[in-house]
Amino acid sequence: MKEKIRTLVLSLGADICGFAHIDRFDNAPKGFNPADIFPDCRSVIAFGIALPKGLAGINPRLVYGYFNSFTFPETDKIALQTAKRMEEDYPCTAVPVPCDSPYEYWDAENMEGRGLISMNHTAVAAGLGAIGKSSLLLNPRYGNMLTLGALLTDLDLPSDPVSENICKDNCRKCMDNCPVGAIENGRVNQKLCRNNTYGKTQRGFDTVDCNRCRTVCPMNYGDCKLSDSGIGSL
Ligand code: SF4
Ligand code: SF4
Repeated sequence: MKEKIRTLVLSLGADICGFAHIDRFDNAPKGFNPADIFPDCRSVIAFGIALPKGLAGINPRLVYGYFNSFTFPETDKIALQTAKRMEEDYPCTAVPVPCDSPYEYWDAENMEGRGLISMNHTAVAAGLGAIGKSSLLLNPRYGNMLTLGALLTDLDLPSDPVSENICKDNCRKCMDNCPVGAIENGRVNQKLCRNNTYGKTQRGFDTVDCNRCRTVCPMNYGDCKLSDSGIGSL
């Protein structure tokens, strides 16, 4: 059953998919455990959509920003369609979780938001990678160029093996290249980052003015590095 669900998720447009039993979330902060959303949750299915390498090799302001945002509804669509198909094909209940927003937690003073569950920690629990010093998920194949999604189910599905840390030992490129010094000890100061990164054109279109923590990372595209392909040198 697990492999059939994985095949389904990948056939709907995800590039990676993994499984985490609910016992992998024992240390989740109160209010952010999958069971806080769905009390009958026994397993979490995590997946990701990778961005094409080309989007990391250009100025992020409009084209990267647009398509990065474009992956959010695409990710939610995969979660929704998978949940519906699972409920048709198996005796189960499945709950799609928004990959980015909306969410409840907002610390206005520090401009810090938190998703309903942490997609990064869910992806780690499901064996999709390890969290880098940048606080981004690093996947062995797609590096940090992923939008992560998840759905919850009451099916008891075994966890996939967790990944090794793939951050380079002495590397601190993400920290040293952040223009506002927002990254420290594997955490991002969201206020510094948001104020530096998100803006509008004169016409009112959304812009993303920085993604350096993604592009400078030697693991920015996992085993297929941007530096090997001659792009990503912004
Ligand atoms: S997006 Fe830019 S400002 Fe935000 S953490 Fe990354 S490098 Fe720093
Ligand atoms: S830039 Fe270096 S330290 Fe930062 S996440 Fe990538 S490998 Fe890790």
